[in-house]
Amino acid sequence: MAIRVLPDELVIRIAAGEVVERPASVVKELVENAIDAGATDIRIECVEGGKRLIRVTDNGCGIPSAEVALAFAHHATSKLSSAEELAEIHTLGFRGEALASIAAVSQVTCITRHADETRGTLLRFDGGRLIVEEHIGRAPGTTMTVEHLFARVPARLKFLKSTQTERGHIDGIVTRYALAYPHVRFTLAHDGRQSFQSLGTGHLRDVLVEVYGADAVAQMVEVGNSRSRSDGALDSASDLPISTHGYAALPTLDHANRSRILLFVNGRPVQDVKLGYAVIQAYHTLLMTGRYPIAVIMVRVPPAEVDVNVHPAKAEVRFRDPDAVFSAVQRAVRRALLDHLARPEPPSVLGRLPEPPSVQGRLPQPKGEDAMGQAAQPPLSGSERWERVGIARQSGGWGEQESGSGGEQDGPKEREEWRAESNGPGSGSRQLPALRILGQLAQTYILAEGPEGLYLIDQHAAHERVLWERVLAQHELGTLPSQALLDPVPVTIPADSAYLLAGQLDLLRDLSFDIELFGNNTFLVRSVPAMMIQDDIANALREIVADLEMGDPALRKDLEARVLRRVCKRMAIKAGRVLSLAEMQALVRDLEACESPRTCPHGRPTMIHVGLKQLEKEFGRLG
Ligand code: ADP
Ligand code: MG
Repeated sequence: MAIRVLPDELVIRIAAGEVVERPASVVKELVENAIDAGATDIRIECVEGGKRLIRVTDNGCGIPSAEVALAFAHHATSKLSSAEELAEIHTLGFRGEALASIAAVSQVTCITRHADETRGTLLRFDGGRLIVEEHIGRAPGTTMTVEHLFARVPARLKFLKSTQTERGHIDGIVTRYALAYPHVRFTLAHDGRQSFQSLGTGHLRDVLVEVYGADAVAQMVEVGNSRSRSDGALDSASDLPISTHGYAALPTLDHANRSRILLFVNGRPVQDVKLGYAVIQAYHTLLMTGRYPIAVIMVRVPPAEVDVNVHPAKAEVRFRDPDAVFSAVQRAVRRALLDHLARPEPPSVLGRLPEPPSVQGRLPQPKGEDAMGQAAQPPLSGSERWERVGIARQSGGWGEQESGSGGEQDGPKEREEWRAESNGPGSGSRQLPALRILGQLAQTYILAEGPEGLYLIDQHAAHERVLWERVLAQHELGTLPSQALLDPVPVTIPADSAYLLAGQLDLLRDLSFDIELFGNNTFLVRSVPAMMIQDDIANALREIVADLEMGDPALRKDLEARVLRRVCKRMAIKAGRVLSLAEMQALVRDLEACESPRTCPHGRPTMIHVGLKQLEKEFGRLG
């Protein structure tokens, strides 16, 4: 269809508003145009987070030379011609506004050649004015170069964030479209260095590997099988042919916030709180409170069932039957998870997870490193894995010990100076008396007797406290032992978090991690704090990145404390682990020696004290 200017009566029906907010919005519009043009190879180059230059090159159909100038007019589009079509949009663009809006606030150079023509066209605009138009040789396709965005619009310029931040937004956009269009090869470079590439194999899974890394993808399950995808009409509960396809992470790979729930409707990345909630609901009881799933979910509905014309940036959509879509998504994800988790033989699922950290490839643990004998502690056993996925809790297993930890991320404590916290109010007077071990309850609590009655000690929280005080002391003296991994572990971090990690490698080095950027968004972990040598390094690093994201970047102490708390939490013995008398004694001795033995590093109690007086009262011995 030729490009033409939309009639006024159609223009007023199109969601108006600002399209170009920041460099990432330019990238989004140009990438959408390339996809609409049928491109299979899209290259995105940015300089200074897109503030200085954004260039998108595609091998799509190109623009006929007679229409190029028109493409930059307001409301000029080849994708829509009538009001009827507006009710059923099949393309990403439809308003004919993007090129005009971008050209108005930057310098744009467009080089394009239509597939049916023998030569290409070069057009240059400055602040919306056409300043150059000439013919030029080019293979079919289009290259749009946008320079000096907002340079002449100081009011907008001042709202742009740091290069790193703008870059993060661009990474997020490119990653999303790469996921939505696996048959398209996307290449992203910042400041001359390639930072992301998808291979265009047509398989979502292959793109996921580029974004999250193979070890993370090994912990994801496919949502919606190929049979239901091909027949299209899989949601039996409604008449609508809603199809849901994607990948959802097993609960072992969760995230600290909702930002890793990526939703797409008819190939369009959308923000939809309700749909996101459908995914969260699918994980009901599978994740700890305060933890969120990682999922990439593609929903397809007939175009007439969804209104994409509600938001200027087309980031929100409105469904004609939102409940049907909600339940289709929720059930598809839930089904995929339960299929994997509730198999009769759970170990077979666990076998799919990346190898638990084994001694293989690592140096042996230094002897006597830890009172609890960390070195002797086997990698996560099956039951501990299940504890982490929450299944055991569901089946009435080990009580709520872990589930209470959800609030830790937001507690006001997090803002406090960490040292102050560790000394706790009145910590001096809260020293523990010497305790005698009576036994273990529910493989979670240590029962101990003291001069003033019964003590119920949460073994995980207590061990966290012990490790925390030790790590803190070592860190302050600069003696936190580091240990090299025999084989450095490569870890892929999603591009929009990778830049954050890249900026914190020095901080992590001070905490005895030796991590280097290995190319694109992959990092190589060479050394870790010695106590972590047996840990699952890839998952640990991902959790640490999430912790850093939650922290206050201006407060180094806050970030350090988050990382160290995470290390202690991961390395502390778990609930559900049977402890020998000697192990319990060692732990309680260590706890007695702590400055603040009665709370864990997150501020929750390590123990409950039932006094003799209280017992007497309960038994009616008093009065
Ligand atoms: P819209 O995408 O809403 O139609 P745009 O302003 O983004 O509006 O683009 C205007 C028109 O320019 C499009 O309708 C399309 O015909 C043409 N166009 C823009 N970018 C490309 C491209 N990369 N390849 C081919 N045609 C393009
Ligand atoms: Mg467009």
